[in-house]
Amino acid sequence: MSGPQGNPQDAPDRDTEDFIRRLAAAARQEQFLTVVSREDALAAFRAAVPHAALAPEMVPLAQALGRVLAGDVASPIDVPPFDRALVDGFALRAADTEGAAPSQPRRLALNREILACGVAPALPVAPGTATPIATGGVIPRGADAVVMVEQTEFDEASLVIDVSAPVRPGQFVGYAGADMALGETVLRKGLTITAREIGMLAACGLAAVPVVRRPRVAILSTGDELVAPGSPLRPGAIYDSNGAIVAASVAENGGEPVALGIVRDDEAALEEALRGALAGHDLVVLSGGTSKGAGDVSHRILGQLGSPGILVHGVALKPGKPLCLAVAQNTPVVVLPGFPTSAMFTFHEFVVPLIRALAGLPPREEQAVAACVPQRVPSELGRTEFVMASLGRGPEGPVALPLPKGSGSVTAFSQADGFFAIPAARSGLEAGEAVSVVRLGAGVRMPDLTIVGSHCVGLDRLVGLLAERGFTARTVWVGSAGGLAALRRGECDLAAMHLLDPETGRYNAPLLDDGMRLAPGWRRLQGVVFREGDGRFEGRSAEAGIAAALAEPDSVMVNRNAGSGTRLLVDGLLKGARPAGFWNQPRSHNAVAAAVAQGRADWGVAIASVAKAYGLGFRPLTEEHYDFAYAGGTEDRPALAAFLSLLGALETAAALEKLGFTPVGEAR
Ligand code: AMP
Ligand code: MG
Repeated sequence: MSGPQGNPQDAPDRDTEDFIRRLAAAARQEQFLTVVSREDALAAFRAAVPHAALAPEMVPLAQALGRVLAGDVASPIDVPPFDRALVDGFALRAADTEGAAPSQPRRLALNREILACGVAPALPVAPGTATPIATGGVIPRGADAVVMVEQTEFDEASLVIDVSAPVRPGQFVGYAGADMALGETVLRKGLTITAREIGMLAACGLAAVPVVRRPRVAILSTGDELVAPGSPLRPGAIYDSNGAIVAASVAENGGEPVALGIVRDDEAALEEALRGALAGHDLVVLSGGTSKGAGDVSHRILGQLGSPGILVHGVALKPGKPLCLAVAQNTPVVVLPGFPTSAMFTFHEFVVPLIRALAGLPPREEQAVAACVPQRVPSELGRTEFVMASLGRGPEGPVALPLPKGSGSVTAFSQADGFFAIPAARSGLEAGEAVSVVRLGAGVRMPDLTIVGSHCVGLDRLVGLLAERGFTARTVWVGSAGGLAALRRGECDLAAMHLLDPETGRYNAPLLDDGMRLAPGWRRLQGVVFREGDGRFEGRSAEAGIAAALAEPDSVMVNRNAGSGTRLLVDGLLKGARPAGFWNQPRSHNAVAAAVAQGRADWGVAIASVAKAYGLGFRPLTEEHYDFAYAGGTEDRPALAAFLSLLGALETAAALEKLGFTPVGEAR
């Protein structure tokens, strides 16, 4: 880099120059992306990358579970390989028993061999004779039926049996090839091998089976801020969640994930990692670094690794626009956007179909659920918009409840059952419109109870207790007012709320609509939180501590969002003051505690359980009521009834007290 010549005093120093260069790169961001439609992107990717099953490989049966059969399998033998007895008894000629009756038994002489399993018969069954045979024994020459031992009388002295009923020809004989005949196609190509298929293969003597080679998928996460789970988190860092979720999703779709870890946002490091990833893998999935200045790095490297290089960089998706699709050294490379939800949407749209095709698996259609949206869902015209949704039971079948999380949310996955797409040509969906929800994981099932509202660890515990009683609950955290609105729209069974009515000074009840009922939950102690050892608060009451903090100009508070019960409390404490930090207004107790614990603020108001979790000092102020609203008339639904009875249970009270809450309740 050449710095400006001239008077050194006028020249920006190297640091400043570097700073300006980085700033410009960050500002460039996505503006150079050539955005194409989702359909064009898919078509370009499919044209450049064969979406076909990889070559077969033989694997021993012990490793065949879950693999995809690469070809039809025909049985090389008859199963069973010979005619055999299906019961313990005697092999005989059916004709010898004709007309037998209890009063007129037919007497047969026993041949002097016993046909245990695995014994090849030496003696034929001549007319008037029978041979003792065990279940699974080989039917001897001459015999055509088996009589059960219970239906005979055995005479030890003369070694004869009396048969007192006629025996049908073929009775209790399992014929050779009855299960599987030699040459019969018993398993079809493309089938996923389960224990059942492994049993069949073993029965026809096959020790190994041809399966589609699993696509080896190299996974890299890029970002200076990333730390591997299990390591301590340094300031400003976050855990690499994309690496883990991509690896698991690769495995779920029949691929073999090869986790290559985290790469710094550094051109040389990324190039080295990418070259390593391209060797020996069928597909490389990177995440991060496509939307910032750093994005230029992967872009540039992919351009240098040979043709065709980058196929698409920028797709009209929301979220997911900076997606990059490339082919380098004959290996497809997909760079997913870093935001976890964006990464997942684009992974499901572009990568899952490829992995499944390479793995020989059918498309994932069976994973989609038809549902309708309960309210209008706005979307951006011109971009295919993905919406995370949780599935609930509506009055007319499944409803897809859009989750209000931004694209950075990891937790959206735990609350979401799947996602649906709004076509680029639409500016939104109307209430009641049908959507197809793509499920995010196998085994996701519709919850018995949907609870929407404000988060509380006490409720987490209650949901656990409910699960022990056999009911699943879906929780969606949108805040108290959001929960109440969802209940009003019929989107949930319960609204979890702690709203103070400013007019009456009472919690929750005055804010319900006619027809809604309130089940009392528990009380949460709220107070001022601060770092232990802060002299302004130590040894003082909450009010005195705040007065001391307000007197210091460099002390910083953290507020809460308008409309929250906690905000009303803070307003009461501030009495009109607007200290530094007043405009920092996060939406949760945890965000307040994190700001104080990390030194971004000195005090705020949060609940006791959260203060404890963050190791903060706490001065109690008041108790907030955390209750549950539901629609009158629904309380007899089994899951809701179980939840309401749990609220009044002793076990619940004990669990809540242990978490630092005060139970109040008896369910109504
Ligand atoms: P990027 O696409 O690199 O600009 O990242 C966009 C956002 O996603 C940033 O907030 C990143 O910190 C975050 N992010 C990137 N990679 C990961 C990852 N592997 N796991 C979790 N978050 C990530
Ligand atoms: Mg990044």
